[in-house]
Amino acid sequence: MDKKRVLVIEDSVFFGSIIKKKLTGTNGYAISWAQSKEEAIIMLNKKDHGFLAGIVDYNLPDAPNGEAIDELTNRGIPAIVFTGQLSEEVRNVVWSKDVADYVLKDEPYSIEYILNLLHRIKRNSKIKVLVVDDTSFFRKVISELLMIHRYRVLTAENGEKALNIISQHPDIKLVITDYNMPVMDGFKLTHTIREKISRENMAIIGISSEGEQMMAARFIKHGANDFIIKQNFLTEEFYGRVNQCIENLENIEKVKNASIKDFLTGLYNRRYFFDTGTKLFSNAKRKNINLACGMLDIDYFKKVNDTYGHDAGDLALIAVSEILTKRMRETDILARMGGEEFCILTVNADPTSLADIFEYLRKTIENTPVNIGNGTQINITVSIGVTTQIEDNLDGMIKVADEQLYAAKQSGRNRIMLNN
Ligand code: GH3
Ligand code: MG
Ligand code: MG
Repeated sequence: MDKKRVLVIEDSVFFGSIIKKKLTGTNGYAISWAQSKEEAIIMLNKKDHGFLAGIVDYNLPDAPNGEAIDELTNRGIPAIVFTGQLSEEVRNVVWSKDVADYVLKDEPYSIEYILNLLHRIKRNSKIKVLVVDDTSFFRKVISELLMIHRYRVLTAENGEKALNIISQHPDIKLVITDYNMPVMDGFKLTHTIREKISRENMAIIGISSEGEQMMAARFIKHGANDFIIKQNFLTEEFYGRVNQCIENLENIEKVKNASIKDFLTGLYNRRYFFDTGTKLFSNAKRKNINLACGMLDIDYFKKVNDTYGHDAGDLALIAVSEILTKRMRETDILARMGGEEFCILTVNADPTSLADIFEYLRKTIENTPVNIGNGTQINITVSIGVTTQIEDNLDGMIKVADEQLYAAKQSGRNRIMLNN
């Protein structure tokens, strides 16, 4: 389960209610609301409070100058400060307390801004960022800023070590690198990364000292996405640039996924199945690798829709997808071919264990009731047609699997039919 509980420390019933209303409901956050610092401490001292973040009013009756913020940050909980007015003095106090961000109360966009930030903080714990600098002080400064926003931080002291770390963690999304370092500098590092990893898959931010005017342009020419001047960047600017780089990558990912994945279940769609499956098929045929194709169809699915409604039908489709995904291996292809029909292409499965594999799927689906809300559970079954016969092409193989599926339906449903 995703951690989605947020602590709101706010004495104004008006603002507290607005936040509560907006965050709960469709946005799905759970709120604990404290109206004073004292109340907040009681909630924070509970074991397993599970707070993702805290939204804290700068000015509370028992904490007039941001003292409640420390209760969050001292416990390592990202603090989003809610404040009525923002003087230079308040701003300095706020940032000196290592908060995640601050938001002005009377701005109409505030709540949306908070929602975005919470969403980021939630996602960031899965995102790896590599900080590269030969000076341990700067590695520490940058790492701490990133960790306040819950990024997973790795560090390296020069370009060569950075490349090593990247090869061990290919899922790193952002590299923040200094220019001037021994062994391998930031330009060479940026350039070398870009030979292998495109901007669609990883962002790079160059960081260097003031006064080196050409630095930004040169970093960008070498393939960096952005640049920050080391000595005097504002914390807001830093977070702004980092988050923007990450959001760009996420947007690219979303667009990519929209074209190859099914919206409802998140499984690959028919188009992706044929694109990737065709290559897999030719390769398997050429190298004499075992290939099996399983076509799976939910039994009497129309009845599920007619009896319980289309939404219940959707939940059943999601439940089946989850069961199938769990059993998949990385080399296999699983797709929703349309409607309530799924296809699995498995590579290198032992032919003698194929029946067991698909029988296990069938049985698991039969024995896993689907929750359709209001405490109602329904049972569904599937029929599966499987073949290992490699035909002339993938279409041919699917056709045989389809015939097996038809036979499984004809002979009573909720069974597998295998053609070896
Ligand atoms: P059989 O056992 O022979 O497979 O019978 P069936 O009722 O499962 O098959 P049929 O092809 O008659 O009906 C499939 C139903 O699946 C009809 C269609 O409305 C429903 N369906 C297709 N796509 C979706 C979807 O995305 N969501 C929901 N809820 N239903 C869908
Ligand atoms: Mg340096
Ligand atoms: Mg069906």
